[in-house]
Amino acid sequence: MSPLLQVSDLHASYGDFRVLHGLDFAVGQGGVTTLLGANGAGKTTTLRALCGMIRHSGRIVFEGADIAGRPTEEIVRLGIAHVPEGRGTFTGLTAEENLLCGAMARSDRGAIAADVERVYGWFPRLKERRRQQAGTLSGGEQQMLAIGRALMLRPKLMLLDEPSFGLAPLIVAELFEILRKVGEEEGVALLIVEQNAALALELADRAYLIETGCMVMSGSAAEIRDDESVRAAYLGY
Ligand code: ATP
Repeated sequence: MSPLLQVSDLHASYGDFRVLHGLDFAVGQGGVTTLLGANGAGKTTTLRALCGMIRHSGRIVFEGADIAGRPTEEIVRLGIAHVPEGRGTFTGLTAEENLLCGAMARSDRGAIAADVERVYGWFPRLKERRRQQAGTLSGGEQQMLAIGRALMLRPKLMLLDEPSFGLAPLIVAELFEILRKVGEEEGVALLIVEQNAALALELADRAYLIETGCMVMSGSAAEIRDDESVRAAYLGY
């Protein structure tokens, strides 16, 4: 089966500053893929390039069509949802209003109310807090809200940037458990960027390692976890 997303020779830069130097990677039709790498390696930049948020070149083939260079709005409509670093919730709106914002790009308005309930099914805490302003939610609840808002798009691929950032270990464990189930049951492939390599490798099926804008390793999550150099540099054992 061909992958859902196949990226080849991806370059990206901020002005004259070149950050990505020809990345090749793929995301399967389902399951969890993770991009690992140290601070500043280019993980966030990779996700931004996939969403058309920064200048890039190369091929980004999604469901057989090259979407490189297309506007973000079009990429979203094709079914790629981005859960950015820092969550990006609208702090002055209620939790439920945030979820409804996630459905703005959809044309099937009739199914939206049912999908809000589906998100509440995944994250019952959001239902309890549906009328609360997003800015007053806890960090974990805001991350759930950001994921819920992305799900409202009914995406085929969800890009998650550091979902564990700033959260207590217990909350992260709960969140990652839900993420795996969401991926499986909603049929969404997940591409997760994480600095917390140990955590990401527990969740992922496949992993890639980026160093200073170059892909230096790829394999099954188990292969990457067992690699001596990865252990020493990223896992600390
Ligand atoms: P982190 O986990 O710290 O976010 P990362 O792997 O996601 O790391 P990126 O955020 O993609 O790394 O950053 C890659 C490089 O691009 C870094 O050298 C960073 O300083 C630079 N960079 C990131 N954003 C910008 C920007 N808006 N303008 C200029 N340079 C940037």
